[in-house]
Formats: sequence, C-alpha cells, structure tokens
Amino acid sequence: MRVARTVDDVRDGVRAARGAGKSIGFVPTMGALHEGHLSLVRRARADCGYVVISVFVNPTQFNDPADLAAYPRDETRDASVARDAGTDLFFAPAPAEIYADGFATEVSVAGLSEPLEGVMRGTGHFRGVATVVAKLFNIVAPDVAYFGQKDAQQALLIRRLARDLDFPVRVEVCPTIREPDGLAMSSRNVRLAPADRPRALALRRGLDAAEAAVAAGERDADRVRRAGRDAMRAHHVDPEYFEVVSADTLRPLKVVKGDVLIAVAARVGSVRLIDNVLLNL
Ligand code: AMP
Repeated sequence: MRVARTVDDVRDGVRAARGAGKSIGFVPTMGALHEGHLSLVRRARADCGYVVISVFVNPTQFNDPADLAAYPRDETRDASVARDAGTDLFFAPAPAEIYADGFATEVSVAGLSEPLEGVMRGTGHFRGVATVVAKLFNIVAPDVAYFGQKDAQQALLIRRLARDLDFPVRVEVCPTIREPDGLAMSSRNVRLAPADRPRALALRRGLDAAEAAVAAGERDADRVRRAGRDAMRAHHVDPEYFEVVSADTLRPLKVVKGDVLIAVAARVGSVRLIDNVLLNL
C-alpha cells in the first residue's frame, strides 16, 4: 500500500494504475476506521482494479470546534486496517495540502443542504462536505466513489453534486454496517461513556418502532414520527430530530408513500449520533 501526503503523490499513483488499465475506486473518510468504512473499501476492492482511501478530518465541515478537537484520530491503525482490507493508496494529507493560503472557492448544493443535519449543524456543514468532496474527486479522479447510507443526506448531496458539476464518477451508496445489537457503527461511538452505550440504542429502537408502525399499516407521517420519538424517549433519549421525508428531496411527508427516508439525530451524553432507514412503499 502506498501512503500519499500530497496531491502530486496521489496523481502519480493513480496515473500509474490507469496506465496499467485499472479502474479507480475511491472511499473518502475522516479516519478512525471501523467496519462501516472497511465495508466500502472491500466493495471498492471487489469492483475496481485500484483502491484509494482518503483519511482527512475536514475542518470546514465542523460547526463545533470542540467536536473537531475531540474527533478520534489514529493514523497508524487506520493505515494498517485499510491495507488489510485491500487499499492500494492511502491519502492522508495535512490541512495545508487541501486548503492553501487564500483558499476562496466553495461548492454548495442548494435545497439538500438545509434540512435535517443542515438545521442542526448549519448550512456551512454541507458546504464544507461538498467542497472537500469536489476537491477529492478532482485529485483522485475516480471511476467509482463509495459512500455509506448511514449518512443518507450526505450521500444524496454527493450524487447531486456529481451530476450537477459533471464529475465523471459513479456514486455508489452502500448499506449501513451495525454493531450486533443494532447500533450504527460510527467513529464517534468510541466517545460514548460506558453508561451511555445502552442508551445509544435509542436511535435504532426509534427507527424500529417507526418501521413497525408503517408495517402495521400506518401511513400518517406524523403518527409514524410520534411512534419513533416515543420509543426513543422510553430509552431516555430525546431526538434532535426524528423526521419522515422524501428520500429524493428530503422534504417532509404527510403521507408515508414512495421512497421514504426516516432520519434521526440525537445527543447521547456528549456524543451526537445519527441513523436512518429507507422504506419503499
Ligand atoms: P466518515 O469517516 O464518518 O466521514 O465516513 C466516511 C464514509 O463512511 C461515509 O461515506 C460514511 O457514510 C461511511 N460510513 C460511516 N459509518 C458507516 C457505517 N456504519 N456503515 C456504512 N458506511 C458508513
């Protein structure tokens, strides 16, 4: 596995792989790699001849400096597990390599950036995400890029970004990987206090309750939402949001019909977690 620190290093590696006739698969991450990330790497490995992972804690997508400071980092371990999962090129740039002095250009995806996470974290969050992903797409020039359904709003936004700006990349959205008890894997889970770990299941339980209500025939989105919120409160967690929205536009639904995203965010202790489920009715 090649370790790259600079844009030129990445381009050298990718150019050589392309010269050898290989397709390029790309997995952007912020590190603290877990099985969720590695499932994307393995999928890229199965689909593509050359697999690139980036590990970059992108400062511009954090609205809270304390969250940025507390974000877990362990590059040595990340490199080792990325290599074992089949990575060819591990890109771990310093912030100055990505944001040169005088950096002034931003990408924003209107409409999809504002609801859900946009309300809680501010629209600057997705501007940070869209800008860094656009840069990474230009640096790596992948044929296929892999994202997790866990961050459903982000995945939707990246699809739109690639389409709107004509990036010649196929965006693949892969299933959420969970702990055995159902908690969605997240780099932030390691920051959960032991006493809070059982309460973190509230998000999954809320989604289960909403899904069960729909399976039992409920089509009123407000009632489905209430079922989810009540189940979370039974686990002593208040959601920041628990929304039933269109999976295409993220607009709130009155009636549960078509492609539906049920998305939840909550603070458990000091850690902010998100999860979601997609339904097709
Ligand atoms: P992050 O490092 O949190 O920015 O995540 C990097 C990529 O991994 C994003 O596309 C995430 O959606 C994806 N990802 C994070 N957690 C999971 C998970 N539990 N299952 C599947 N994909 C995930």
